[in-house]
Amino acid sequence: MNIDPTLGCPCNGRFLVPAFTYDCPPAGETTFDLKSQVYRRRYDRCTMCGHWFARHDLDLSGLYERDYVEATYGGLAGMRQKFEAIMALPSEKSDNRGRVERVRAFAGDRGVDESKGPRLLDVGAGLGVFPAAMQTKGWHATALEPDARTLAHLRTVVGLETLNLPLLQLEAAGIAPFDLITFNKVLEHVAYPVELLMAAKALLLQDGLMYVEVPDVAAAAEGPGREEFFIEHLHVFSPVSLAMMSATAGYRLIRMERLREPSGKFTLSAFLVACSS
Ligand SMILES: [Zn+2]
Repeated sequence: MNIDPTLGCPCNGRFLVPAFTYDCPPAGETTFDLKSQVYRRRYDRCTMCGHWFARHDLDLSGLYERDYVEATYGGLAGMRQKFEAIMALPSEKSDNRGRVERVRAFAGDRGVDESKGPRLLDVGAGLGVFPAAMQTKGWHATALEPDARTLAHLRTVVGLETLNLPLLQLEAAGIAPFDLITFNKVLEHVAYPVELLMAAKALLLQDGLMYVEVPDVAAAAEGPGREEFFIEHLHVFSPVSLAMMSATAGYRLIRMERLREPSGKFTLSAFLVACSS
């Protein structure tokens, strides 16, 4: 697998050392149909910036298109159940509740007026719990999602405006600029996260805000079985690598937090603005 080895790290990938190695799926990992491929993968860790890179030759190309909804939720009915269960969680048990509070507080500090229906683009919306909650607070939420069945869920169950274009094509398609773009647990799934962040910059209003959540390498202290290191994650970030990626993509980092979420997830969250603003 060819993954950008640097994200802006000055070591240019020269100081990678092997970290966790897997020859079978850790408990709890979603089971994907690997066809005849042998399950074998590992992470390499950068000794300079602390970033972890997935290393394997497994072909996961069909993962999100074909198998993801079925394997993860057991189809559309399962998605609806999961969505409703998460929306009904009490605040102290809901990762999403904390996220909504963080984002709204930050946007409020930066002068965003919720009574004016500010526009949110949620990239990789998944079940849609975040844009759904933001919509109830006055935001006009648009969900970007590649999977056709997930799009159907977002439209019919959640009631969101949806887009199924690749992010890189949105600017050319004349999609109007957004007050806020969010990547919630998305960038770790793509080989080239810098490219996506860069493309998103063109979709922000002049003073637009970017919010990013990624898995935190701090989880490694609890061993290789943690979900932060499941097969879908091509990257696991350190505070330094998240800061470097943001700078490389042309953003100024305004705030970063190291979270231990109600679900137990180790997460880094960051607020960014485009360098020109
Ligand atoms: Zn590095």
